[in-house]
Amino acid sequence: MHFAKRLEKIPPYLFAEINRKREKLVAEGVDIINMAIGDPDKPTPAHILQVMHKAIDDATTHNYPPYEGMQEFRQAAAKWMERRFGVTWLNPDTEVVASIGSKEAIHNTFLAFVEAGDYTLIPDPGYPVYRTSTIFADGEPFTMPLKAENQFLPDLSLVPEEVARKAKLLWINYPNNPTGGVGTLEFFAELVDFCKHYNILLCHDNAYSEMAYDGYKPPSVLQVPGAKDIAIEFHSLSKSYNMTGWRVGFVVGNALGIQGLRQVKTNVDSGVFKAIQKAAIAAYNTSDAELQTLMSVYQNRRDTIVKGLQSLGWPIQPPKATLYVWVPVPNGYTSAEFVNLLLDKCGIMVAPGSGYGASGEGFFRIALTISEERMLAAIGRMKDAGIHYF
Ligand SMILES: *Cc1c(COP(=O)(O)O)cnc(C)c1O
Repeated sequence: MHFAKRLEKIPPYLFAEINRKREKLVAEGVDIINMAIGDPDKPTPAHILQVMHKAIDDATTHNYPPYEGMQEFRQAAAKWMERRFGVTWLNPDTEVVASIGSKEAIHNTFLAFVEAGDYTLIPDPGYPVYRTSTIFADGEPFTMPLKAENQFLPDLSLVPEEVARKAKLLWINYPNNPTGGVGTLEFFAELVDFCKHYNILLCHDNAYSEMAYDGYKPPSVLQVPGAKDIAIEFHSLSKSYNMTGWRVGFVVGNALGIQGLRQVKTNVDSGVFKAIQKAAIAAYNTSDAELQTLMSVYQNRRDTIVKGLQSLGWPIQPPKATLYVWVPVPNGYTSAEFVNLLLDKCGIMVAPGSGYGASGEGFFRIALTISEERMLAAIGRMKDAGIHYF
């Protein structure tokens, strides 16, 4: 038996080596403090669970759902986009589609728009799916470095003319995983112009739109005048509402972009369980106060870990958004070396920046998915081991 060649072209899994090492240490009885994984540790809020309990007893939810999502779900998504971002123009019938979580929709967007030899423009560091799905679609990933000195925004002037002309999709993700960088409407407007000029579908992965702190409200790319002509945006309930296991989100924006995605989906999946769609509607109706309560947990953790690292000499500032803190490694180490050192000497697991792309070298990523108590223990272990920034 032979795997298809496309499988051989997929880079090795980011956490494969470090996971092997962790398993060995756990078997030896080491208490690992795991800050590597971006998966919320708290339960889904009660008002969402209540709707799910009722919906599951309702037999009308048990058969195949509509491929594109129930009408009431698509209407709720459009209404949420209006309430949250002031985007008033979305037609639930043509400009909204339900997704089985963003990962599915991201992958299928590549299948809908990328052919052999086409370029995709993707961020580096970035969510690994943009690269692997380009490869699954036989396209060529062209990476756009995200540098600290440019606030982790890509520099479009570094995209060669012939690459831009052969590009089909441009991916951005703000608030950004893994850097914690945030986007501005000015920058989004620049991207809309660029993508219109080269006829590239602008894809904004907005998985962290609600995970922001200190009163900051991340924008939607669809707020930019003219974005309707060229952009689609991916939303997910996974991270903000502690719903990673539920697999539900939506994609909104340009009607042709949505049509292409829908056409792939109709042929490869059969939609989202209707009971989950009903629970998702409840999530979109979450009060601002409740969401604020959910986010304050991460904001406090962020402050704890940033203060702790500052006390060890790290020159970092708290990120405005996301579930992550993006931290430079001390001089003299690669990302992989430093991550291994933290695991060996302190039993602390974090993600090496280089796992998210070549431009992630020199950083590691901390996920805010453990308690403040455990974070303080991690800082204590680093202090005891003599690990500091300078
Ligand atoms: C977690 C994550 C996703 C995937 O979210 P799901 O909706 O659970 O599939 C997509 N993009 C980014 C940048 C993420 O970090």
